[in-house]
Amino acid sequence: MSITSIDPKQPAPDVIIIGAGILGCSLALALSQAGFKTLNVDRNAAPGLGSTAASTGAIRVHYSTFDGTALAYESYHNWLAWRDFLAAPGDEDLAAFHHTGCLVPATPENDFLRPQLRFCQQLGIAHERWDAERVKTYLGQVDLRSFAPVRALDDPMFAEPNPTSKAINQAVFFQTAGYVSDPQLACQNLADAAKRAGGRFLHKARVSQISQAQGRVSGVVLADGTRIGAQVVVNVTGPYSSAINALAGVGNDMNIKTRALKQEKTVLPAPAALAGRQPGVIWSDSDVGAYFRSHGDADILIGSQDFSCDPMVWVDDPDDWDDNFSQQWQTQAFRMAQRLPDLGIPSRMRGVVALYDVADDWIPIYDRSSLPGFYMACGSSGNQFKNAPMVGRLMAHLIERCEAGHDHDQDPLKFSLERIGQQVSLGFYSRNRAINEESSMSVVG
Ligand SMILES: Cc1cc2nc3c(=O)[nH]c(=O)nc-3n(C[C@H](O)[C@H](O)[C@H](O)COP(=O)(O)OP(=O)(O)OC[C@H]3O[C@@H](n4cnc5c(N)ncnc54)[C@H](O)[C@@H]3O)c2cc1C
Repeated sequence: MSITSIDPKQPAPDVIIIGAGILGCSLALALSQAGFKTLNVDRNAAPGLGSTAASTGAIRVHYSTFDGTALAYESYHNWLAWRDFLAAPGDEDLAAFHHTGCLVPATPENDFLRPQLRFCQQLGIAHERWDAERVKTYLGQVDLRSFAPVRALDDPMFAEPNPTSKAINQAVFFQTAGYVSDPQLACQNLADAAKRAGGRFLHKARVSQISQAQGRVSGVVLADGTRIGAQVVVNVTGPYSSAINALAGVGNDMNIKTRALKQEKTVLPAPAALAGRQPGVIWSDSDVGAYFRSHGDADILIGSQDFSCDPMVWVDDPDDWDDNFSQQWQTQAFRMAQRLPDLGIPSRMRGVVALYDVADDWIPIYDRSSLPGFYMACGSSGNQFKNAPMVGRLMAHLIERCEAGHDHDQDPLKFSLERIGQQVSLGFYSRNRAINEESSMSVVG
């Protein structure tokens, strides 16, 4: 039997989820638990081999919007209780959540974290203010002089401390943070949990058409010609989201669009003071425009905060792009070396080259579309791995209510975050919202 065959003895799905990344698998779990018959269709051979596999897996709660902060804080609790969230058997191998906390210097570039701290106070999120001495104890050899503004590597002023800016003298430690070291395994965990709840998965199956009948979606057609019918289809295809929206004839009518963006992460040997640290560290630094986290015992992984002095490499076709390292790798390494003078930079490049699916204001789209029955969870903008546990549930709520006749465009649904006792409006994630001016307009969210 071909791996793309649909078993005729199985009941037809209620919902086809295109994509089996971390968000598509979370949706499969939530919908299956709610009693829907789901089928995830993915072109790859296993769950989580798309952009999920490349994720840094950072779980943090400091965002520049209230809704972003609340969703991340609720999701954090589910990472803490991952086995319970999945209802996984005691012997199942689960992705580890390294509960490190996240240390963020307060700088003029991040407005001294004023919005983030306001939302943390509103939501009762624990945090501590650390002075420079405590930061030095935490990071070891560290240069806390200001190097802002963030500069390109070929700028003659690169690595010159800013004579008019004060050195960093305060950082905020957010305890409710950490990272998942194996994002693909976390995705597999969700897929296994969805299967236990009745969800089905079809791999090595590329969707090439979205079918419509009587003014609504009616299923998908695969590249090998197989037709699969369903009353609901959800686009959860990461960097392919705009191409799949185009197949459904939606996208041009949306106020917020999505595009694929090339991203590189740099892996370097950890300076001696950071090597072997348990459970590890995360440092997110807007003064040098980069962040790092522990990567195993011996390395650190560095990522960019996407500054305007850097070229943005937008990718029109995620099947045809240059996935080699570029100068971005080196730039990130040298930016972090300003802060960590002991950082050695070998000539051999290690890390990942991958694609973000970026929305116009770097806030995701979790919404219906103008085509009845066609929904989307996309534009995750390099920062929604952490929210995967809740994104499945909020999308399931949205689909259930819209299919029952609710007009979400006119009357945006509310969604309850039960662990933290809050509600968010799903209008925040609307495809038709105005650009959210509170957004950092970067991966920081
Ligand atoms: C380098 C990098 C670092 C990141 N770091 C963080 C971080 O530290 N913290 C954080 O919260 N987030 C982070 N993110 C973001 C996070 O990883 C993503 O938001 C998340 O993985 C997106 O999951 P997804 O399921 O939407 O997409 P994907 O994982 O890309 O899954 C989409 C799936 O759709 C499938 N697909 C596409 N087209 C078709 C088709 N036509 N037919 C069938 N299947 C199709 C693909 O095969 C793929 O499996 C990072 C992302 C990247 C790239």
